[in-house]
Amino acid sequence: MADEKNQKASETNSKIKPFQTPKGVHDILPNDHEYYTFIKKVVRHRLRQAGFKRISTPIFEYTDVFARSIGDATDIVDKEMYTFKDKKGRSLTLKPEGTAGVVRAYIEHGMKQLPQPVELYYIEPHFRYDRPQKGRYRQFRQFGFEIIGELDAALDAQVIYIANKINEDLGIERLFDIQLNTIGSLEDRQKYMQALKDYYYGKERSLCEHCKDRLQKNPLRLLDCKNEDCMILVELAPRMTDYLSKDSLEYYQDVKEYLDELEIPYTENAKLVRGLDYYSNTVFEFWDAKNGAQNAIGGGGRYDGLVEKMGGQPTPAVGYAAGMERIIAHMKREKIRVPNKDTIHVFVAQLGKEAKKKCLKLIDEMREAGIRTVGALGKGSMKTQLGLADKFNAPYTLILGITEVREGTIIIRNMEKGSQEVVKFDQVIDEVINKIGEKNLDRYTPGELLY
Ligand code: AMP
Repeated sequence: MADEKNQKASETNSKIKPFQTPKGVHDILPNDHEYYTFIKKVVRHRLRQAGFKRISTPIFEYTDVFARSIGDATDIVDKEMYTFKDKKGRSLTLKPEGTAGVVRAYIEHGMKQLPQPVELYYIEPHFRYDRPQKGRYRQFRQFGFEIIGELDAALDAQVIYIANKINEDLGIERLFDIQLNTIGSLEDRQKYMQALKDYYYGKERSLCEHCKDRLQKNPLRLLDCKNEDCMILVELAPRMTDYLSKDSLEYYQDVKEYLDELEIPYTENAKLVRGLDYYSNTVFEFWDAKNGAQNAIGGGGRYDGLVEKMGGQPTPAVGYAAGMERIIAHMKREKIRVPNKDTIHVFVAQLGKEAKKKCLKLIDEMREAGIRTVGALGKGSMKTQLGLADKFNAPYTLILGITEVREGTIIIRNMEKGSQEVVKFDQVIDEVINKIGEKNLDRYTPGELLY
């Protein structure tokens, strides 16, 4: 009877299709976490060094926060946002990018009262209903940083410099070209957009469906369409540079001079406009030197009108954001290895209840001493436990059996050589520290942890 029941249960189970993640989102498995951790450390180090403070904004905000800042006519707001109603019918959206939330927080918490500029950075997940493909996911992680409250071309250069420095630390800076452009002031842009509309008048039929729409809503975006016919038309379209005011041109010139001074190479690209509405003057992107815009790892620019547009006082600002998944893909392709602290020093194997009791205490003391220790505390045979020690790649295994407990000793096994020695139980921690070296210990003092 019981057998029949079990049989039925297993038949039912075999019909249950195992769950998978939704399309476009991924688990981060331990091997990939090494990369995320490394990038986070580099980002924190570089930004802390430059006086930035970390901020986290909520995963979701009122939809208007993004609609008003990023712009209704952008791809993100138009079709890529995860928007839903809460139980009271309020429209909320999972954040598709970081700047809007940071600016909302700057205004909401009265940061205008702080000494300016306010320098903030974030490392957060973001969500876009993008068509999933290599390097394009529906949940992805970005780090970004913003300088809010001061207008100076030197700050734009500084943001590009720090972004480049982070790439250098990650070992990928030579893989990218910095594309640089200016989209001028709001007034420059309005004049330019009118010129674009005039130019495209009568040519609409040659445009792709997207661009027909862009022409009405956001003509600047016509410049970065990848459709072949649209690209041909762009070649003869009016150039932004012809519509820049003297001030905008001077500002752009200053940014370039500061970058030259900092010895940062860049490529001027008059077609670079960025996909978000809030930029003004400087815009830049880090393009894959081999594949161009398709695989950009990050971008940013100046957004002097955004704080005011979101209800604050007029406040200039500049920032940058980069995608961590794409950075990791480049690091892996280049076979860049990241330092890893997940290796363990010692595996502890035991046999018998008395031995297990002693091991529980010993494992705790070893960890306190900074020795990364894993213990087999299940009921496996010695052979199974040694097999586990191999899997953990532990250089040493401690073995405590009934005899050792009785004699007050413990065995240290060198896993690589297969050699063993018996030491006094009370001295085993010192012996292990001697073997792995004081400098390799992983001591943990919460008060001293910086992050
Ligand atoms: P953006 O905010 O669109 O300028 O994006 C900045 C960076 O975030 C890009 O250069 C990418 O590295 C990354 N990114 C943007 N969208 C996605 C996505 N759907 N999947 C993965 N990474 C993304």
